[in-house]
Amino acid sequence: MMLGRLKKNGHRIVDAKEAQTVIVNTCSFIEEARKESIDTILDLIELKRKGKIKKVIVAGCLAQRYGRDLAKEFSAVDAFVGTPTLNRQETPAQLQLTPKHFAYVKICESCFNVCSFCAIPNIKGKFISRTIESIVREVRELDAQGVKEINIIGQDITAYGMDVYRQKSLSRLLKELVKVCKNIEWIRLLYAFPSHITDELIAVIAREPKICKYIDMPLQHISDHILLEQNRNITNQQTVELIQKIRKAMPQGFLRTTFITGFPGETQEDFEQLRSFIKDFRFERVGVFVYSKEEGTLAAGMQGQVPEKIKKARLDGLMKDQQTISMEIQRSLVGRSLKVLIEEKEAPTRGHVPEGAVSPGRLPTKKALNVKATQRQNPDAFETYIGRSEYDAPDVDGVVYVRSETSLKAGDFVRVMITDAYEYDLAGVAVE
Ligand code: SF4
Repeated sequence: MMLGRLKKNGHRIVDAKEAQTVIVNTCSFIEEARKESIDTILDLIELKRKGKIKKVIVAGCLAQRYGRDLAKEFSAVDAFVGTPTLNRQETPAQLQLTPKHFAYVKICESCFNVCSFCAIPNIKGKFISRTIESIVREVRELDAQGVKEINIIGQDITAYGMDVYRQKSLSRLLKELVKVCKNIEWIRLLYAFPSHITDELIAVIAREPKICKYIDMPLQHISDHILLEQNRNITNQQTVELIQKIRKAMPQGFLRTTFITGFPGETQEDFEQLRSFIKDFRFERVGVFVYSKEEGTLAAGMQGQVPEKIKKARLDGLMKDQQTISMEIQRSLVGRSLKVLIEEKEAPTRGHVPEGAVSPGRLPTKKALNVKATQRQNPDAFETYIGRSEYDAPDVDGVVYVRSETSLKAGDFVRVMITDAYEYDLAGVAVE
């Protein structure tokens, strides 16, 4: 949106290597994000010092949160600009940074939940939703441009409409969006707040073929006293009932969730409870973060801060358990045919693991990819492509390696018979 606005105002948008002015869009959500932002700013200052670029502009939520301090620290930065607010009615002039076949559509900004560990509401300010008309207009344009998948985003998309329509309106919005999606075959929902998920929303996702049967629903914990301290507005029992409801409505669906280890006051018992919960409920996709003590949040002042070493050890424990679960779930997909959206032809740089090498978990071996090809007369006729199924969100989930006899291009949908499974990725052969 930022680049779209600049382009509209006559600026020429080029790659950072050719640019005179470089804008870095920062994040300050947690310590790790701040570090990454600062490292990038330092790299750019170095480029400016060497005369390779003329101006450095720091935008986004790091600038919003710490603009004054940063200005003192980094005098070589030419300007700090914070986070822009969404305009309710206006369809933003987007300059699509994603590949042509998928796009992100932001439907609301900020959040009115007050999770005690989270600085977002302080950084982003008042919760604001765009109107249904403005979003429909944007999606119609993306559809006309040939986009095949849209990812609906916002800090809490399940709160969509609570300001502008005085009620949760995500299901109403989705019903309107499916009507204008001609080329778009996948609508993916990212970041649903568990206690805002309604029965109607579950029913719409389950019913509409164009909505991916994939819900990204950060749970953060499962111990009642931690959920209460986190101010998540949900209990252990309610969480379990919600998961059962979703599983019943979408037996083939995938659930992605995230957890925090080492929240203040988390005992070994709380952690063990979380561990068995993950084993019992077998989420298809799980992300784990260590608790990050954020300035200005309630949790930062809480008693019982957990030592870094323990937080990290707990994260490792959860991830290890999840790896086993993930591998079993991936293996259960072998022999199934999945609809896959092709992203790119496999580049040699992304490369295969040499035959016989131990797979690092992400990349399948050449041998595996050739497994079906060798059964054909001419295995060399196969090309390898990288794609995603409806169960893989761009950037965060795994990929599907596709061997195909016919030539494919980014944005094509193909049916793929899954032949091999890896911890996070799959491999198979295009069958139609
Ligand atoms: S729902 Fe998400 S964005 Fe909102 S306060 Fe909680 S953690 Fe932060």
